[in-house]
Formats: sequence, C-alpha cells, structure tokens
Amino acid sequence: MINHLITQKNWQTQLSEAITSVDELLAHLDLSAHRADVYVPQHFKLRVPHGFVAKMRVGDINDPLLKQVLPDTQEQIAVTGYVSDPLSENTQNPIKGLLHKYQSRVLMPITGACAIHCRYCFRQHFDYNANMPTVQVGDEIVDYIRAHADVNEVILSGGDPLSISNRRLFAWLDVLEGLPQIDTIRLHTRLPVVIPERLDEALLARLQASRCQIVMVIHCNHANELDAHTASYLQRAHAAGITLLNQAVLLAGINDSLEAQVNLSKKLFSKNVLPYYLHILDKVAGAAHFDIEESAAIKLYWEVLAALPGYLVPKLVKELPNKPFKVPVDIYTDPIS
Ligand code: SF4
Repeated sequence: MINHLITQKNWQTQLSEAITSVDELLAHLDLSAHRADVYVPQHFKLRVPHGFVAKMRVGDINDPLLKQVLPDTQEQIAVTGYVSDPLSENTQNPIKGLLHKYQSRVLMPITGACAIHCRYCFRQHFDYNANMPTVQVGDEIVDYIRAHADVNEVILSGGDPLSISNRRLFAWLDVLEGLPQIDTIRLHTRLPVVIPERLDEALLARLQASRCQIVMVIHCNHANELDAHTASYLQRAHAAGITLLNQAVLLAGINDSLEAQVNLSKKLFSKNVLPYYLHILDKVAGAAHFDIEESAAIKLYWEVLAALPGYLVPKLVKELPNKPFKVPVDIYTDPIS
C-alpha cells in the first residue's frame, strides 16, 4: 500500500516530502526506542525520501539501508586521518564549477542538492556555494574545455545532478553538446535508486536524443535498494540506450560481506546495470565508523573474484588526492595466500 501511494507522486513531490526528522523516520520503522543514539550535525542533516524508507526492514536498527542514512553519535568522534576535504578537491577547480582531476574528463558539480544524505559522503563538507557553476560562468567553462582539446567527456555530478529540473539540466546538455570535442556525457546519480520516478519520460527522451554517448553511473550499495519498482525505471533507461553502470562504497556493517557483494552484483546485472567500481571509503571526517581495513577489503575482494564471473566483479579502487585516475587497490598483496 505504501509503495502504491508513492508511485502516485511525481519525483518533485517525493523530493520535497523527504523525511528530515529523525523522530519521524524512527517512528516509521518502529524504532523510536533508539532515539538516544542519534545526534544530527547541523551541516549535514538527515534527509531520506519515503520510497527509500519503504525498502527498509521495519524494526531492524541494523537494516543496511537505514544505516546509510541515520546519523550516529560516532560521527562526532574526531579520528586522525579523516578530514573535511579528503580528495583535496578545493584545490583542483581551475574555474568555479569545474573540477579537472583527470586527463580526458572534467567534472561539473552542477548542484549541491541531493535527494538523500548518505552519512559516508565524501562531499559532506564540500563548499558547493564556492564551487558550483552558474549561468554566468558557463562561457568560462566552455572556453576552458575548448582550450583543453584532450577533454572529451564531461561528468555531471553534485550533489546529485538529477536533483535539478529538466529545464536546467537540458540547458547544460545543450551547452556541452555544442562542443564538438565532447563525445560522452556521464551522470553520476543516486536518484534512479532513491526516487526512480526521476527517470521521467521527458528526461529519457532528451538523453536518447543526445548526439553524445550517455553514461549513467548509479550509486547503489546494497541489493535491497533494487526492488521491482526501481528495476522498471532502470529498464526504461536501458531501453533508451543509456549505458548503466554502478558504483558502490564498501561500508562496514552494510555491504562488507561476500553475500552482500554477490547479491548486489547479481541483482544489478539482472536490472541491466554493470558493476563498475567498489570504492574504499574516502577518509572524510565523520565517516570513520564506516571504514574497514584495506587488508580486510582485499580479502573480501578475493572471495568475490572466486565467486563471480569477471564481468560481475567491480574494480576495487580508492581515490587519492592529486592522482590522475582512481587507484586500483593492490590485491596481489594477498592476505589469504
Ligand atoms: S547522493 Fe551522492 S553526493 Fe549526495 S549525499 Fe549521497 S553520496 Fe553524497
């Protein structure tokens, strides 16, 4: 019944009605007794749409989806090595609104808004106001890309680039498609999993009509995020010719088991999404309790390699400041040999 009601609402309504109250979230899940364990930092409050909550297990404080969004007192513990800008992104924006970290690609964080607040997010302290592109700097961005002929791909990121309106998104697509050197436009988005209705007809038609290859990298950490309703929208995106990939973050107590990883890869593939990256957690302040030892990650990865065909095994990577690509984790330092 809950799902039926949710699907009657368009994505904008679902976005605006997202739960922002810890009390309301816990009451929905019959978990009000756990209220004392929660402290909500003002810079990064609770935010979760009803549709995502509907995928959680009622009465289970350890639900893998709930753990991704419920603030925890552990966020307040300062841990050495966990910092506010773990990837030094504030030093890699040649002009406001454009990050140029990798040779052939540039990244544009076109909004700071997200449908959901993931407690492990490495951009939870990011200064979006200082770094978002505006219409005013659009010409500067175009000039910058033209001056860098080896850039052939633009990554629209955020925040979540699909949290802005179709009108604003299409305006950016028009600008980028007007640059002959750009052959690929990539969207990094969690919205297809969190509010699948965001993949509305107008959006899919516009992306299908693009002269560029469109790649959509969704962000799904656990198989429970992919129900039949979500799958139906992913299927529409696939039918529109969009290449669907997934990136996940390896998270303690959420997906750091062989069963969780195998289930995630298999379920993604059954929904026409290929596992792309499995990220070691970026060491952002407030998220240390989600991190796992790299040796444990490697051990798990060997098990995943043994259990799945190669095309279902995401690349295990970590992002390091000022490196020109995501760094593959050295799995040959084999902890189980
Ligand atoms: S949707 Fe992405 S950018 Fe937004 S909070 Fe989650 S991880 Fe961070």
